[in-house]
Amino acid sequence: MDSTVLSVVVPMFNEEAVIPALVDRLRPALDGLGVPYEVVAVDDGSADRTATLLFEHGRTWPELRLVKLRRNSGHQAALTAGLQRARGDWVVSIDADLQDPPETIAEMLRVAREDGLDVVYGVRADRSTDTAFKRHTAGAYYRVMRRLVGADVPAQAGDFRLLSRDVVEVLKRLPERAPVYRLLVPSLGFASGSVRYARERRAAGETKYPLRKMVGLAWDSAANFSAAPLRIATWLGLGAFAACLALMIFGLVVWSNGTVIPGWTSLFLAVLMLSAVQLICLGLLGEYVARIYRTVQNRPTFHIGFDSATGDGQLDIPRQRSAAGRR
Ligand code: UDP
Ligand code: MG
Repeated sequence: MDSTVLSVVVPMFNEEAVIPALVDRLRPALDGLGVPYEVVAVDDGSADRTATLLFEHGRTWPELRLVKLRRNSGHQAALTAGLQRARGDWVVSIDADLQDPPETIAEMLRVAREDGLDVVYGVRADRSTDTAFKRHTAGAYYRVMRRLVGADVPAQAGDFRLLSRDVVEVLKRLPERAPVYRLLVPSLGFASGSVRYARERRAAGETKYPLRKMVGLAWDSAANFSAAPLRIATWLGLGAFAACLALMIFGLVVWSNGTVIPGWTSLFLAVLMLSAVQLICLGLLGEYVARIYRTVQNRPTFHIGFDSATGDGQLDIPRQRSAAGRR
């Protein structure tokens, strides 16, 4: 049971379109390694046939293990579930859409073993298949994060990486609510290396990262590693104070000249400006308070509904739809 050398964690959200291509490419890549492995496919509460398809493929591919979350909990939460369930001495996380080539896993494992490393990052050397928008926002993201978290954060390293059992155990013990693994892992300080690869085009289906989720990930990244946004309040306050001083001098000069100013516009602008600044600062404070609140509540961020390897839970496969009505 415990002889699994490698676990490959694949979070999947509505990925039914890509599953056949994924199985076709991942299986030979892993069979070729010549070590006992398991694929932990985490179905992140998909609304399509992702879980059903995975379960069916599992009949002919015994290493394919299905872990199903009860509801969509997000990419990072799905990764957490996968890390918790993985049994291998090494754990690789990889996207389901074949943008990260599965053949690179062999190289990661070799580098880790030969150089005695605990972490091997997959670094995207070539992102020409991504949209210009994605490349620019990703570039800005990694620049800001390296400033906030430190230069240990490898640029262009997403969630395609290899971890040793030691790292996984440390990650499992962290009380983090909204982990952002691409920042968390470098911050632990384990011996690490990297393998470069060209990011491919999504094999099928559409991106599951709409702008809303990208902004969510960016904000989690910033807030998890830095209280710098709170300091914005101080800077805005100082700016407002300086402006106030200047206006005070101006007001006194005008007053001593005996000119009467109507004053409506300046008052109106000052009131608007200051209330906006105050609301922004309150909002920022609120974000951090909400994080404290969620941490204190201590609710699990995901619930596992089914695990094909341990037999936990039940899988509700929609009753054979093919029997009647179709074709
Ligand atoms: N994903 C997930 N839950 C979500 C969103 C995404 O498990 O709520 C998975 C998705 O199925 C894929 C991986 O996270 O395996 C990366 O998503 P995607 O490829 O859509 O992101 P992109 O490459 O466009 O940034
Ligand atoms: Mg992708």
